[in-house]
Amino acid sequence: METIIKNSTLNIQKIRQDFPILSQKVNGKPLVYLDNGATAQKPKQVIDAISNYYQKQNANIHRGVHQLSIETTVAYENARITVQKHLNAAFPQEIIFTSGTTESLNLLANSFGKKYIKTGDEIIISEMEHHSNILPWQILCEEKGAILKVIPINEKGELLMDEYTKLLSNKTKIVAVTHISNTLGTINPVKEIIELAHKKNIPVLIDGAQALPHIKVDLQALDADFYCFGAHKIFGPTGVGILYGKEKWLNEMPPYKVGGGTIKTVTFEKTEYADLPLKFEAGTPNIEGGIGLAAAIDYVNEIGLENIGAYECELLEYATAKLSAIEGLRIIGTAKEKASVISFVIEDIHPLDIGTILDKQGIAVRTGHHCTQPLMQHFGIPGTIRASLVFYNTKEEIDLLANGIQKAIKMLK
Ligand code: PLP
Repeated sequence: METIIKNSTLNIQKIRQDFPILSQKVNGKPLVYLDNGATAQKPKQVIDAISNYYQKQNANIHRGVHQLSIETTVAYENARITVQKHLNAAFPQEIIFTSGTTESLNLLANSFGKKYIKTGDEIIISEMEHHSNILPWQILCEEKGAILKVIPINEKGELLMDEYTKLLSNKTKIVAVTHISNTLGTINPVKEIIELAHKKNIPVLIDGAQALPHIKVDLQALDADFYCFGAHKIFGPTGVGILYGKEKWLNEMPPYKVGGGTIKTVTFEKTEYADLPLKFEAGTPNIEGGIGLAAAIDYVNEIGLENIGAYECELLEYATAKLSAIEGLRIIGTAKEKASVISFVIEDIHPLDIGTILDKQGIAVRTGHHCTQPLMQHFGIPGTIRASLVFYNTKEEIDLLANGIQKAIKMLK
């Protein structure tokens, strides 16, 4: 701990040394990486865990009798327990490994939908969802003749909770909303969303893709029925993610993808499926991904999510003030409860042009609709420029961003 934290203030320069990519130059300029909402960089602790796995441990898991297979199975199952403890889930079997947030949402919509959704039922999502939390429900509604209901937002990018309450009815079968908006940074009142749904015995899925890197999530305190996220946004590897589900739901839900690993017995007439979590984990999983995810969680916990939260709050305030001072710049997403994500547009300039000029200065931001086209339609814009900040970013980088934007505006106007 002492090596990373100085008097409970983060030693950012020390932390940055853990991320080899951050000392690179891009386009001849020191990399300023502000695209963490798309994917975060990996500390050497995660890279080493994966490298070590391939150098010393590689074997397939669960059914091997040989030593390497046994050791790898233990490491993989320990990774599941690391995730369980990090999220304060009640049981390890409630943690299902998937290939990422998108896969988790497809698994849930397919499996839950198959069992519980019928014609005329309603599914509630919100206007700020990522396409990955819209499309699986949209397809389900088309297939089953169900209806997709959408919680509207206000101009700050906050959910209209009164409208949400009105949407909840005895036709509602599930509510699926994001914890933190990837485009706006809004932190949604998920505890209240869950409590209101539970009053009517409606289960709730929370898409935590953008929450896990920034805030502490306690699933038992939240009482979420389902929660999902991907490892790559929380400083872990790509291609691995989690679907959490309360045991009582997962036990009742049918398997989604099937094959090796998901069964107890198979005959040509009938298959008996395995208990949780294996019922939902078909085929050889992303073993190094699970191990890498556990290393990422350990890393984040070593720094401490409270320290991370306090520092990112400072960064957000600093960046908001700096960017707001630029003439013609408008921030999209000004919710009271906000994570360190700033989306903005600049009068009469396309976001892509700004992004391209920033890239020439070594500054990586994301431009476009951020997989939230309905949100862009709400604000009547083609896209935004998004700077998403994490604990390894600095105020100096925000200054570079602000100067870079000014330069781009001069060139384009
Ligand atoms: N949900 C949210 C809120 C996201 O931000 C993202 C990715 O940006 C996703 C879902 C999809 O995540 P992935 O592409 O890792 O499956």
